[in-house]
Amino acid sequence: MADTALAPAKAPDPYQAEPIPEAARAEIDRLLSTGDLFRYTAPEGAPVALLEAEFAAFIGTRYALAVSSCSAALFLALKALDLPRGARVLIPAFTFAAVPSAVVHADCTPVLVEVGPNFRIDLDDFRAKLDGADAVLISHMRGHTSDMDAIMEECDARGLPVIEDAAHSLGTLWNGRKIGTIGRIGCFSFQSYKLVNAGEGGMFVTDDPELAARAVIMSGAYEHNWKKHPGLQNSFVNWQNRLPLYNMRMQNLSAAVIRPQIGEIAGRVAAGRRNHDYVADRLNHSPWIDVPPALPQEERAPDSLQFNLVSFGSDDEARAFQEAAKTRGVSVQVFGLSADNARAYWNWQFLGDQPDLPRTRGMLMRACDLRLPARLTTAELDTIADALVAAASEVKGT
Ligand SMILES: *Cc1c(COP(=O)(O)O)cnc(C)c1O
Repeated sequence: MADTALAPAKAPDPYQAEPIPEAARAEIDRLLSTGDLFRYTAPEGAPVALLEAEFAAFIGTRYALAVSSCSAALFLALKALDLPRGARVLIPAFTFAAVPSAVVHADCTPVLVEVGPNFRIDLDDFRAKLDGADAVLISHMRGHTSDMDAIMEECDARGLPVIEDAAHSLGTLWNGRKIGTIGRIGCFSFQSYKLVNAGEGGMFVTDDPELAARAVIMSGAYEHNWKKHPGLQNSFVNWQNRLPLYNMRMQNLSAAVIRPQIGEIAGRVAAGRRNHDYVADRLNHSPWIDVPPALPQEERAPDSLQFNLVSFGSDDEARAFQEAAKTRGVSVQVFGLSADNARAYWNWQFLGDQPDLPRTRGMLMRACDLRLPARLTTAELDTIADALVAAASEVKGT
């Protein structure tokens, strides 16, 4: 056998998925052997219905509706609010392309709001754009919570509904309260790069029985399938046959994959936060790297790390940093420097011409993205931090 003791530490592959809990297997076997994959076949106790009850209990809302993706949940949220065609929906300009896409899909008009170097919505630009807005969709991008105290105060004063895109914020707390439960509707993702992995999947949560009833029907609860959703019987009568059926349901196999992971969320959040804060602290010792802190009200649940390159005057310098990190085995993406990045607003050409957003643009050209899954060991975290600090020093000549 080769002696590996002297080989340099190898950086871990952050894209490698974690195994699905063993407990999922028996249920998946049962579903495969019975063929009972559709959520509305069983009279009660279907895996999707059980997941909804468990998720509502976990997050602390009256209603939870499982759907095919977070994008579907965002679309249904806008539809459930019954916004007029062309309604103006404020969204942060730093988010995933699926978010403005959901707004367009719902026949609304996205209005992009500047995002500052701390990756959160710029409150001055937000306040400036509130006049004429019909709804607000806050994407807590990469788990960075925008100031929900300020946002809710402004929106409550104007009677504007707030949707939270908490796709990447499962387990994050704001003043001790779970993110996704502060606005009128919260949306979560179970796509593979989120804290809970089902390949695909989403969840819509609310305390409002009318919004829940409308979303349930539009998600595809045709005929009297709404009766399989608890606690809403009166509201449904108002909407029977009056709403389109968009068929964005979750199927039972996805629920079987998700359910055993709900109990693992707390542990993953704690490990993710510990890893994130450990690497952030090491990176912040470099004069060339800045990891913005959490907001005082915020307790984060990170599974990735974002940082800004400091005093990198040119794009070439930022690219040289990427190269130097890659040579050391660590891949980081500068959001604005990779071709066709789906998180760079200038690539959302389906929106047509948009005003430039210099603050967001400036941030995206120097902000780096690094996946940091909860399973990494301290030694692996050190390898990553060492590589990034050394790469920055190499480029800046120290
Ligand atoms: C992943 C993600 C989405 C989209 O989620 P899907 O389930 O893939 O549709 C939306 N918003 C944010 C912030 C995300 O991270």
